Amino acid sequence: MTTRTGRHFLQIPGPTNVPDQVLRAMSAPTMDHRGPEFAAFTTNLLARLGPVFGTSRPVVVFPGSGTGAWEAALVNTLSTGDRVLHVETGHFATLWQRMATELGLYVDFVPGDWRHGADPEAVAERLADDTARTIKAVCIVHNETSTGVTSRVPEIRRAMDATGHPALLLVDTISSLGSIDYRHDEWGVDVTVAGSQKGLMLPPGLSFNAVSEKALTASRTSGLRTSYWDWQPIIEANRRGFFPYTPATNLLYGLDEALRMLAAEGLPAVFARHDRHAAATRAAVRGWGLEVLCADEREHSSALTAVLVPEDVDADKVREIILERFDMSLGAGLGKLAGRIFRIGHLGHFNDLTLAGTLAGVQMGLQLAGVRVDPTGLNAALDVLSAG
Ligand code: PLP
Repeated sequence: MTTRTGRHFLQIPGPTNVPDQVLRAMSAPTMDHRGPEFAAFTTNLLARLGPVFGTSRPVVVFPGSGTGAWEAALVNTLSTGDRVLHVETGHFATLWQRMATELGLYVDFVPGDWRHGADPEAVAERLADDTARTIKAVCIVHNETSTGVTSRVPEIRRAMDATGHPALLLVDTISSLGSIDYRHDEWGVDVTVAGSQKGLMLPPGLSFNAVSEKALTASRTSGLRTSYWDWQPIIEANRRGFFPYTPATNLLYGLDEALRMLAAEGLPAVFARHDRHAAATRAAVRGWGLEVLCADEREHSSALTAVLVPEDVDADKVREIILERFDMSLGAGLGKLAGRIFRIGHLGHFNDLTLAGTLAGVQMGLQLAGVRVDPTGLNAALDVLSAG
């Protein structure tokens, strides 16, 4: 086995590198989750969580992965036999609609080419055709982690409003929250689904639902609601600073520290930092003579970049070489993109030199794999970084 020195580069698009401050915060002794100290801690924590989602309303925290929060969003708002509209933006949108089908919902799946975000006009068309108002929810993946494409949620909301259709809007922000501008209240989202392990800079293990008044009302009559995911008892217990079960106490300590870090930097600066690193990454990819998977200039992800490799190259082989030689993990192509792309994560706890190191590793790995790349690609990225 190769001896590793220095830090591993974890440049998959989540889980992301956990800052030392967060690791230290999580190492504090676990406290009594029914005691007064915990109530004060939770009350303070939840008050600071809403702003990251752009909401002044409750955010429900679950011990669970993002997949659990997908399920919570569906089962709290829908009933068996309801119709839902999903858009095929990539692997994660495909998994979410499969879950909806398995839960007994009828899914209208708008086809997509995995290079574009959800098309607001296509959503509006489907809703306008639904004169009987049988579609109960539109489900969108804000940042499709499998493709590096970010859907234009405010435009989708406007298109929905223009049809006058009452469907709820459910949005997956698992790989965008805390990295890409997002506004639950202002954009009129009903349920926002999020996870701890990406922009929030925590290990996996927590997931979230931000909930509108309309979604909360729907949850009172939803037929699919189950006991564990039920929002109501959690919101009720949270009012007193508690949870209706044993919470993931040490992950909450980490969340407390991550929220402090995000607030200290300021969300607009956090988003600008991600935009800049994404622009530098695209400059490198194009400089190398390779293609970014996202095909619409308006939809480039600021959290990750998916890179198409030439037809005769196996992207997994490139990743394997990079892991072996430079101890850096990159994201694999998922689903039908397996072997065709690799994904560079540039989200979370990240700075200019982390990006420079990441891109240097990618360039060297491509060269070692025999891919003909223009080595000035890296310089193009450094030019973007040094331009400020
Ligand atoms: N949705 C998106 C956009 C994701 O990126 C992921 C995971 O990477 C998921 C859903 C599933 O989340 P989890 O793996 O935490 O269950």
